[in-house]
Amino acid sequence: MSTERDKARYPFTAEAAEFIRKLGLRIEDLTSEYYRPILVRAEQRIRQALTEFEVTPQEHDINIEVTSFPTAVMLMSYVNNELAKRRYALAESKSFSERLREEPPEKILRIAKETFGWDVKPIPEGERQTGDFLLHFKQYLTNIRNLRELRWKLTNRPLRNGYVQLMREEAARLIEEEIQRRILEKTKNPLAKLPEALQDTIKSIERLAATSTPTQTPIQTFDLKIKDSPPCIKKLIETLSSGGRLSHIGRFALTSFLVNAGAKEEEIVGFFKSASDFDERKTKYQVEHISGRRGGKTKYIPPKCDTLKTHGVCSEPDELCQRIKHPLTYYKIKIGRFKKGQVQPTMKT
Ligand code: SF4
Repeated sequence: MSTERDKARYPFTAEAAEFIRKLGLRIEDLTSEYYRPILVRAEQRIRQALTEFEVTPQEHDINIEVTSFPTAVMLMSYVNNELAKRRYALAESKSFSERLREEPPEKILRIAKETFGWDVKPIPEGERQTGDFLLHFKQYLTNIRNLRELRWKLTNRPLRNGYVQLMREEAARLIEEEIQRRILEKTKNPLAKLPEALQDTIKSIERLAATSTPTQTPIQTFDLKIKDSPPCIKKLIETLSSGGRLSHIGRFALTSFLVNAGAKEEEIVGFFKSASDFDERKTKYQVEHISGRRGGKTKYIPPKCDTLKTHGVCSEPDELCQRIKHPLTYYKIKIGRFKKGQVQPTMKT
């Protein structure tokens, strides 16, 4: 049984949903003065998600907090901006999972079972050195689809009779994926006609979405060179501009490629701005580090093709790819700057 505070902190749970169902709130109700605080809080959630990339819980009025979540999701279903929808879903789910990481394993287990129907069981207390839970491999696979880090690969996980061993933080991370998917599903299409009185609310969210989630890479001068980039790099850029996230090695490969292809630091940061998990400060730091302006002052180059293949970053290699071993070689050949006999680039560290 969850507490009132839990419902406010985790309004996506089955129990919170039941609580909302009992209130019998309809979209038309939101236009009345009585329910206005719910609408205001829902808008606040969206604004914070789009601009600060997180949603901080407010626990002083549980009813408002719990109902503001499905209200915000419902409002986002009317917003005509796919990138904003993804950004909202990511910010909410990430904020929930950060809170969950601090919770005792029993609470995470209950949410996973009751809300998401996971086939998950606790590892007995005395055996918890390497994991807290065992999750059925099918549900594990469903929730790691978007996770690129090697540690998530099923072959890299300890398995016990078809169940994958998970630490508490890892279970919270997989719950984040589950929540994100559900929010995205619910924001796809609106369920009812938008009441006239809510049209201004949606327009104002769309205006904010347009300024906080750029849909195009703001770099025109660099576009010409991008056309000559290898397929893997084009794919990474495409993923970013459609609001997707890159794996660690994907970020490194793209940033180091752009650094070596001559893009300016602010241009490189511009590429990452469209990502749904964009964090300007972190991105600037990484770009400065890779371009050698920070840390060991080493200017890094992208990993070789073999490494990129191993990590699943190589994508639809073309004919020229068959003749090269490094993405920079591909690029130099394309733009006609590869001199005969030049040494193939290799990783510096
Ligand atoms: S072969 Fe190399 S350059 Fe071509 S797509 Fe794969 S990783 Fe990129």
